[in-house]
Amino acid sequence: MPSVINNNCVKCGACAAICPVSAMHISDSQYVIDPDTCIDCGACIAECPQSAICNDAEASEEAIKFNAEQAKVCPSAND
Ligand code: SF4
Ligand code: SF4
Repeated sequence: MPSVINNNCVKCGACAAICPVSAMHISDSQYVIDPDTCIDCGACIAECPQSAICNDAEASEEAIKFNAEQAKVCPSAND
């Protein structure tokens, strides 16, 4: 049950700074989370000033798909 970022993200980078497994990637429009890397610690959810992150049980199908697809092709936020 990975966390998912929606399009309220303003690319501030706060989530990537605290993720213990470097799961964030940077797409053109927003940050996304690689569902295969996220360990579901929940730390980023509280960190986001835009409340743009939630568990995938509460995320839209569109956001889940976008995060999974973009995480595979976009650069890591921690490189
Ligand atoms: S903390 Fe929130 S607004 Fe900032 S980059 Fe992460 S998801 Fe986007
Ligand atoms: S829930 Fe934890 S492991 Fe998953 S992206 Fe957020 S900070 Fe990283």
